[in-house]
Amino acid sequence: MSHSDTPAYHPDTLAVRAGIERTPFGEHGDAMYLTSSFVFDSAAQAAARFSGAEEGYVYARFSNPTVTAMQTRLAAMEGAEACIATASGMSAILSLAMATMQAGDHVVASNGLFGATQQLFGGILSKFGISTTFVAATDLDAWRDAITPQTKLFFTETPSNPLTEVIDIAGVAAIAREAGVLFAVDNCFCSPALQRPLELGADVVVHSATKYLDGQGRVLGGAVAGRKVVTDEVFKFLRTAGPTLSPFNAWVILKGLETLRIRMEAQSANALELARWLEAQPGVARVYYPGLESHPQHALAMRQQKSGGAILSFDVEGGREAAWKVVDSTRLISITANLGDTKSTITHPATTTHGRITAEARATAGIGEGLLRIAVGLEDVEDLKEDLARGLARR
Ligand SMILES: *Cc1c(COP(=O)(O)O)cnc(C)c1O
Repeated sequence: MSHSDTPAYHPDTLAVRAGIERTPFGEHGDAMYLTSSFVFDSAAQAAARFSGAEEGYVYARFSNPTVTAMQTRLAAMEGAEACIATASGMSAILSLAMATMQAGDHVVASNGLFGATQQLFGGILSKFGISTTFVAATDLDAWRDAITPQTKLFFTETPSNPLTEVIDIAGVAAIAREAGVLFAVDNCFCSPALQRPLELGADVVVHSATKYLDGQGRVLGGAVAGRKVVTDEVFKFLRTAGPTLSPFNAWVILKGLETLRIRMEAQSANALELARWLEAQPGVARVYYPGLESHPQHALAMRQQKSGGAILSFDVEGGREAAWKVVDSTRLISITANLGDTKSTITHPATTTHGRITAEARATAGIGEGLLRIAVGLEDVEDLKEDLARGLARR
């Protein structure tokens, strides 16, 4: 069942059914094709496959049936024309940049991006003549003002990490359209289960499939989904440069997609309850969670997302010492910077994910020494509260 012949199915059906192409054995589970290359019937067929005159598989750096299945399913879930899977979230972003830009081009990006994404745009791509202006992304005028005649790409991530700022996708999309600039959204934090940026006017979505799409902390993966004119260019880069997704990882992610919505809903519900509880705890100065009425962009978040998502942050009174005490008092929540897992994780951004940027840049970004981020999993929320209450009491 490919997305193109089944546009009428609802998202839940597509999540478990899209992309299935059974072999003659009629297997009910999705087959996994662990093969690096494919054989041809004849010299003429080999030539036709290589030239592209005949459709079909050639070599797994280009594609593989298991990867195709995952791409078809994710495209269906994002409402995208096409999807190209990559080896990781970062290689998805790199592939998009390499496929759509050249030396001299300019990017406008939000200042609250994932650390490696910031380094990619601000550091690596600048070595090749692609410059980036980072803007305060909640301010639409900042996007408009940053445009130059060389601007080719707008790039954002919403909600942002770790402060959960919500960026107005439709608003930024309108500015991009007017300027003739490609608009990409990193949809990692919400996933298509909670937010569909393409419906709001974005041209392309990028993913770290490592996070919620797999959802169980098993494999790395990434994807670029959107208009075919864009993904075709991404594919040309990928088949030559090689940051291709492995069939094994594609198969694991394919399985992850089947349970994505119910995981996202349950983890979001846990996050909302935990956020409300944290707001009422002595020693917690502020909670950042789009699902809370106290969040500055709560109304926007509720318009563009189905729920607040599963990630929240909070400021502990007493700075680093107090925050570390909360981290070190946990017995259940994993102390790790990863997110998007069924197991809850806790991290101190100022000394881990955001430890390499200057103290001044951290202060500007609002990432204080008392800030903690939790990616809420599927545990019973009462156990999570107890795990945090211990540290808050010792603080
Ligand atoms: C983790 C992450 C990435 C990078 O993904 P990898 O799979 O680790 O390469 C990109 N964007 C966001 C928002 C992330 O959380």
